[in-house]
Amino acid sequence: MKFTEFGFSDQLLEGIEAINYETATPVQEQVIPRIINGKDLIVSAQTGTGKTASYLLPILQRILTEEPSDHVKALVIVPTRELAIQISQNLEGFSYFTSVSSIAVYGGGDGNTYANERQALSHGADIVICTPGRMISHLNMGYAKIKHLKYLVLDEADRMLDMGFHEDIMKIISFLPKQRQNLLLSATMPPKIRELAKKILYEPDEIFISISKPPARIVQQVFVVYQTQKIALVQHLLKMHNFPSVLIFCSRKENVKQLARELKRAKFSAEEIHSDLEQNDREQVLSRFRSRQLSILVATDILARGIDIDNISLVINYDVPHDGEDYVHRVGRTARAETDGIAYTFVGETEQRKFGAIERLLGEPVPRGIVPEELGATPTFNPGAAKRSVGRKNNSDKKRRSKGRKPKGSSTNSAPSKQPQE
Ligand code: AMP
Repeated sequence: MKFTEFGFSDQLLEGIEAINYETATPVQEQVIPRIINGKDLIVSAQTGTGKTASYLLPILQRILTEEPSDHVKALVIVPTRELAIQISQNLEGFSYFTSVSSIAVYGGGDGNTYANERQALSHGADIVICTPGRMISHLNMGYAKIKHLKYLVLDEADRMLDMGFHEDIMKIISFLPKQRQNLLLSATMPPKIRELAKKILYEPDEIFISISKPPARIVQQVFVVYQTQKIALVQHLLKMHNFPSVLIFCSRKENVKQLARELKRAKFSAEEIHSDLEQNDREQVLSRFRSRQLSILVATDILARGIDIDNISLVINYDVPHDGEDYVHRVGRTARAETDGIAYTFVGETEQRKFGAIERLLGEPVPRGIVPEELGATPTFNPGAAKRSVGRKNNSDKKRRSKGRKPKGSSTNSAPSKQPQE
């Protein structure tokens, strides 16, 4: 689902576009509409699933449709300073073209930081991201304008309980109005989280999302190349080892046909499979591949999805898969049934951003493979630069205009980083 389909306001969509998000992750698809509809939610999702945007974006959207006020509207409680900073950076990116104000409130700063936090809380920054201890010390002083709060988010709730923040959380909640929307996010759902949820949430919907990861025994490598180098690289890798069974995924029929033609010309035992082939021919090719008479099958990803063949020794993503789930699914074709396997992914110059998003969703970089020198120079991997930059025309004008609604003593937004750093 594209972000343009959620009914977000134009200013919000501009921020989303500027940080290069296009397609919602599964957690975002499920969570965003429910928050917009005012539901309380328990979300079981780990870092890497896109959970932060899943609650920040709809809260921003709702705030944008409300009357401006000098009260805090949303409070996000998180376990650590690092997480507070990270979420606040995300928020600054998303809200860059809006008039929504925000502040991160966490311990460890100097007197100036405290004064800034105090200022923002007493003037009612729209969204406050806080760690529990620091928030309580502000609340105890009595100046925080929090009693008209509408949205409460507990992020990484399991970690907060593990760190002994249960009482602090309940104390913060004692300052809040009873009528509010509550969201609880947690990587795990032990009984103590359920108890906390029972105390805080009202008839919540429950959403469980997990991003599966490829089994550890699969050797994964990514090759950053120019599109024109891909055929030569396939040939090089195939020659290095004598893989008995190789499945190559391409995103387009044309690529399948061209690659299969070149491999056959170079005397590899290769065939192609795509929607232009008659059903009979497809079955024949598949049966030869299954029985190992044919060692290399080049397929479009759509067709390859339905191919159930175990013990493939090498998977090559000739083109970058559509998303993280697709990547995991394809890579999982190798190393079935406890055997080891190898998965190579080729990232062409126009696919870097897409692959960057996959790596973020996986939560870690895929090791880089070495492209042989004889293939020539390769591009640098810089996924953030793959789309037009943030400093676009009229950028500053818009910012100035939207600032009209931002009179509070809250943090000012800095330019959104292309991809909020995780
Ligand atoms: P999170 O699970 O919120 O910690 O997000 C993990 C990473 O995925 C962060 O680097 C986000 O910027 C990135 N991310 C989240 N949602 C999307 C999306 N829809 N498209 C691309 N990247 C995303």
